[in-house]
Amino acid sequence: MKCKNCSRQVLINDYCKDCFIKYFEKEFRKGLGNLKGKSLCIAVSGGKDSLTTLYLTKKFYPENKILALLIDEGIHGYRHGTIKSLRKYAVEWGIPYKILKFKKPLDSMNPKRPCSVCGVLRRYYLNKHARVFNVLILGHNLDDEAQSTLMNVFMRYASRFNRMTVKQVTHELFVKRVKPMRYLSEREVMAYFLLKGFNTSMRECPYARSSFRDVVRKSLNDFEYKHSGTKLSIIKTYDSLGIINNPVNLGSCNACGEPSSNEVCKACMILKG
Ligand code: SF4
Ligand code: ZN
Ligand code: ZN
Repeated sequence: MKCKNCSRQVLINDYCKDCFIKYFEKEFRKGLGNLKGKSLCIAVSGGKDSLTTLYLTKKFYPENKILALLIDEGIHGYRHGTIKSLRKYAVEWGIPYKILKFKKPLDSMNPKRPCSVCGVLRRYYLNKHARVFNVLILGHNLDDEAQSTLMNVFMRYASRFNRMTVKQVTHELFVKRVKPMRYLSEREVMAYFLLKGFNTSMRECPYARSSFRDVVRKSLNDFEYKHSGTKLSIIKTYDSLGIINNPVNLGSCNACGEPSSNEVCKACMILKG
């Protein structure tokens, strides 16, 4: 089969290697939007998604102030491989980076639902430390976003819906988010990452398989396999729900002052509990 752009052999998405790379970078650039003159904090784990985000943001905004921020959750045997990759690529691409650790390692908290605790604390630290920047860039891909949307539906977290989009939350301490890969699938990100010759640890978090996200991920992949385009439909449908996309005015946590929809934020409840 021939590439839909040129006469070369198809590799992925009806594109040859070069045309796929062009397509991917064009979509990423569109997702970034205009960030001219803005200071950028990029949330990184050192995995394929965040390294791709780091590489392309630097490519498109070489003059901007950029920091790669990694939060080390404290999960035994999991994070060190990706930290090594972050260090290697950050030096190669000339990007400063910072690594912050959870005050208490996640393992030592022995939580009943590790992913919930991990997610709350990671978002808390990211927002807190990204605040001196204009924008926080997240490497969530289409699969992550479709899963999160469905999880919020299944869990009846209507209020979280608004917070998933880029400009919906208003609070002076809440950093504006940009997700340039929101419409690019995990498969596309993986293909781009490998075609560029990058590598990193692909080790899975030991807690991942017991999470609710994993149940949703498997079902969604099954749906996508049988009904191609399901993930994109979920995101597009969500995006078109203008009615619930009104801005959310967050209050402040009584204990730490950080943005929160409750009197005391979840991070404080976890850290003090
Ligand atoms: Fe944290 Fe769960 Fe992701 Fe592991 S799988 S890094 S515990 S959110
Ligand atoms: Zn081509
Ligand atoms: Zn708090």
